[in-house]
Amino acid sequence: MNKEEVRVRFAPSPTGHPHIGNIRTALFNWLFARHSGGKFIVRIEDTDQSRKVEGALESILDSLKWLGLDWDEGPEIGGEYGPYFQSERLDLYHKHVQQLLDSGHAYKCYCSSERLEQMRKEMAERKESVRSYDRHCRNLSANEQAKFESEGITPIIRFKIPLEGETTFHDLVRGDITFQNTELDDIVLMKSDGYPTYHLANIVDDHFMKISHVMRADEWLSSTPRHTLLYQAFGWEPPLFAHLPMILGPDKSKLSKRHGATAVTEFQEQGYLPEAMLNFMALLGWSLDDKTEMFSKVDLIKLFSIERISKTAAVFNHEKLQWMNGTYLREFSHEELLSRINPILETQLPDTVNRPISKEYASQIVPLIQERINTLTEAATYADFFFVEQPEYEASLLIGKKMTEESTLRALKASQEILPSLHSFDHDTLENTLRAKADELGLKAGQLFSPLRAACTGRTASPGLFETMAVLGKERCLKRIAVAIQKLEPA
Ligand code: GLU
Repeated sequence: MNKEEVRVRFAPSPTGHPHIGNIRTALFNWLFARHSGGKFIVRIEDTDQSRKVEGALESILDSLKWLGLDWDEGPEIGGEYGPYFQSERLDLYHKHVQQLLDSGHAYKCYCSSERLEQMRKEMAERKESVRSYDRHCRNLSANEQAKFESEGITPIIRFKIPLEGETTFHDLVRGDITFQNTELDDIVLMKSDGYPTYHLANIVDDHFMKISHVMRADEWLSSTPRHTLLYQAFGWEPPLFAHLPMILGPDKSKLSKRHGATAVTEFQEQGYLPEAMLNFMALLGWSLDDKTEMFSKVDLIKLFSIERISKTAAVFNHEKLQWMNGTYLREFSHEELLSRINPILETQLPDTVNRPISKEYASQIVPLIQERINTLTEAATYADFFFVEQPEYEASLLIGKKMTEESTLRALKASQEILPSLHSFDHDTLENTLRAKADELGLKAGQLFSPLRAACTGRTASPGLFETMAVLGKERCLKRIAVAIQKLEPA
């Protein structure tokens, strides 16, 4: 194999929505391929028919597309070394498992699942460390085999792990790793349903797809000695290995659903930006130094290296993701932010809001909220009062600090009186007029502004009052002030 050419693969099993850890693996492979001018291949490992989940494949590919992780070979586009679905490569696996049978590296196993269960139970009772298999069929005579065959039992095929010695491989992140062969079981290569196991299909494909580097999560580390032995049995040169550190939740246990969203599609739905997600994931187990946090995709391609992948687990910090997302969001031009927010407004504003949402109107709101939101969906929740006919709130919200029902009513009525006469309803005019009004009423500015804010927005915190009122417009503000007065006035 030409080791000069970098060919890496992302090999997901379509068993559900891809977890952040899966896509982090894809990202590291993609970055390495792009950095080295190599190829990024997507291979679908769908040999476990029982674990296949409808829609999972689409979800995996959509996650990659959303992040802009384009592949050079794989589903939808094919390539020179296809097919890229393992379920379409069964002949290749059968041929190669036969090769191992012929060379004496594999054997047929006729043990029933009941026997295996019984065997494990007995091992546990004897307080032996439980192994998945006791090698019962490893040395069957031809006669014994023929007897099982005549009973119509379909065998599975197992790999003959050497009974002694050790297996060492080099990991580009962790260095040399040695396993005692006695720790390894005779793994299954071919199941009775005619499908190969992960181990067989994975290495046959890595070989024939000319994969140069296998970069995968470190949960696969214990498979690597078995794979190394398989490569030896076939007489093939193995690829280089790099196992990526685990991702932990804030409580330092393995990141899981318990910690909140873990599927990339969920983050997309929650209004995270692909740019921020990519940057954030790149730092889950990789760093340039101990301070740089913000990396564009171009920076990452330029700077990524396997040498800087960490050995220790990465911690998923939700606040950091939020912060990073907000930082990206604030760097956008108003126009760019509008184009990202618009689809969210369309789908997430209450049904009562007329569609399509006016882009012209939304464009006036964008500058007011840009500093105040961290995710795109917050645009719909934080700014909904701009769009609904009348915000919902309790009358008590109108009565601010050091105000009573009467003084609030007085303040609102005074505003109701003065606003119609304004010729221009812009920030400065509103500010000058309302400050003067507060003085006249003997109120502090805030004492007048807070009931007005509550009346116009239905909340106590909003973008600046005057720019908000200017965007809402005179008519809408007056209508909302009238509603507020009604809420306070005794019936
Ligand atoms: N199909 C395996 C997975 O789902 C691939 C592991 C590997 O990259 O070897 O993660």
